[in-house]
Amino acid sequence: MPTRSRVQQVAVNLPTQLHAPEVSWTREVDVVVLGSGAAGLAAALAARPVRDVLIVTKDTLDAGSTAWAQGGLAAVLDPADTFGEHVRDTLDAGAGLCDEAAVTSLVRDAPTAIQYLELLGAAFDPGSDGLRALTREGGHSRSRIVHAGGDQSGAEVQRTLDMNAINAGVEVMDHAFALDLVFGKSNRGRRQIAGVRIAKLDEYGNVESVGLVTAPAVVIATGGYGQVFASTSNPPAVTGDGHALALRAGLTLRDLEFVQFHPTVLWHPADSSQQQMLISEAVRGEGAVLFDAAGERVMVGVHPQEDLAPRDVVASAISARMAQAPAGVDDHVYLDATKIDNFAERFPFITKACRAAGIDPLTQRIPVAPAAHYTCGGIDSNLDGLTEVDGLFAVGEVAYTGVHGANRLASNSLTESLVVGTRVGRNLAWKLPERVKPDDAQPIGVTGLLHDSLRSDVRVAMSKHIGVLRRPESLQLTIDALSAVAEKVGADVAPTRRNFEATNILTVATAVAASALARTESRGCHRRTDFTEQRADWVCHLEVALTSDSVTIRGIPAEA
Ligand SMILES: Cc1cc2nc3c(=O)[nH]c(=O)nc-3n(C[C@H](O)[C@H](O)[C@H](O)COP(=O)(O)OP(=O)(O)OC[C@H]3O[C@@H](n4cnc5c(N)ncnc54)[C@H](O)[C@@H]3O)c2cc1C
Repeated sequence: MPTRSRVQQVAVNLPTQLHAPEVSWTREVDVVVLGSGAAGLAAALAARPVRDVLIVTKDTLDAGSTAWAQGGLAAVLDPADTFGEHVRDTLDAGAGLCDEAAVTSLVRDAPTAIQYLELLGAAFDPGSDGLRALTREGGHSRSRIVHAGGDQSGAEVQRTLDMNAINAGVEVMDHAFALDLVFGKSNRGRRQIAGVRIAKLDEYGNVESVGLVTAPAVVIATGGYGQVFASTSNPPAVTGDGHALALRAGLTLRDLEFVQFHPTVLWHPADSSQQQMLISEAVRGEGAVLFDAAGERVMVGVHPQEDLAPRDVVASAISARMAQAPAGVDDHVYLDATKIDNFAERFPFITKACRAAGIDPLTQRIPVAPAAHYTCGGIDSNLDGLTEVDGLFAVGEVAYTGVHGANRLASNSLTESLVVGTRVGRNLAWKLPERVKPDDAQPIGVTGLLHDSLRSDVRVAMSKHIGVLRRPESLQLTIDALSAVAEKVGADVAPTRRNFEATNILTVATAVAASALARTESRGCHRRTDFTEQRADWVCHLEVALTSDSVTIRGIPAEA
């Protein structure tokens, strides 16, 4: 039984604090939100009417994943659809590890969240009946995805929330990097959040100054960790900073091994280490089908839903087919969207990106490959954003709430960011946690940074060995390689955004690789070549914690 026996330690020296200049300024606010995607903005907006809210974001407001989302937001809006079906589809995708109560709660709030966004000014695409158009995506048994601008749904969400947050008087500190959390003691002697250390950056990412923002409530909304992998659909800002900052603060993270690989990003050999353009699932929803380089269908005989199977099934089928190198091609397959009417109108963004890469999707098959897309695990929290530390909240892709289990159902994440973000903000508007003084002597721990020149070593190893199909020998080799990279962390590395991010990427990569090695089964989006099936005694979560000399993985029963 894994939950009894499963405590594994990987010996590795990772910093427990990012090395940065001394604090030279302080700010005091009610609520500080780290990150300005859907989750952070929703929280800030809901808290703002009665609180001083400061958003700290390391780039421009729209640098996270939110602005890139294509497909849309899932909610039961068709009278023929039911909450029960949305819950069931989510649980099926989550492969036994969802928290059903959390899923039900999210699904019930989802339609209201969509209406709320519309009241804030979001314009979703209308259907032929004048109501919202609803599309279907992989794993959904009904059409329940609202979208905007065809395939620019996230941009509309970001625009709407940006505008409302600014108009409501939310203060934004951009080009400001959240380094580490700062704690104090509550009246009852419990460790409680006191604030966060922030580095203000210049236009080149160099540190201008470091300050301390104190607040009774700190909301971590820093997004996922797609950039831990060389091949990813995520934008450059999504480097797992919030996960790493939480690990360094001694918080527990959950289920980091469950990385969803999007089956279809636009394959681009010359630029494969950058963000890669997503070819939305909605394209398959509208009828596109996958072929290998030899012209054979990829999904026939793999799953009853064929090209609309859940994305882990599709990503795994593509990876397996690529490994066979049909017609000598081992790094991509093809998506045929040429039979879709009005493709350019329905998917203008994708059409433009394909044409920029020299492919006309109206007449040619699109070369595609899987890439890291969504991170199901994160900071252990719940649908109210509560974490194990009073005053500290986690929202959006950085959080583990129990909704996604071992695999996220497509388009549930923007909905979750909006629902949970709004709940956190609203609760903070009602009541703030106790304000505590930062401890005079914060534990210094091991400070240091990884130089950015080593970032790609980590990312390439992660994509190669901790990708869609995970081999046991590669997992161990990758952990050894990451431990060796960690030896190069030094206190003499200059504090810059790139170096902060490289250090965070290494920290998260080590935790992900250790979790993937520990889970000796295949479940959801975690696929092992040595244990190809789900195992009954593995219906458990993996908790991850960091100390100055190890990463510890512990199994706990799924219901805990
Ligand atoms: C190409 C693509 C398509 C997608 N399509 C869909 C879809 O159709 N439907 C769906 O539901 N989901 C989709 N997703 C997933 C979805 O977009 C994300 O899960 C969601 O937007 C996450 O929102 P967030 O607010 O948690 O994080 P993000 O939107 O990623 O925002 C994170 C924020 O934190 C900031 N930040 C990070 N680190 C720091 C730091 N150290 N200090 C300060 N600020 C920091 C970033 O700059 C950013 O502002 C897609 C994702 C991608 C990449």
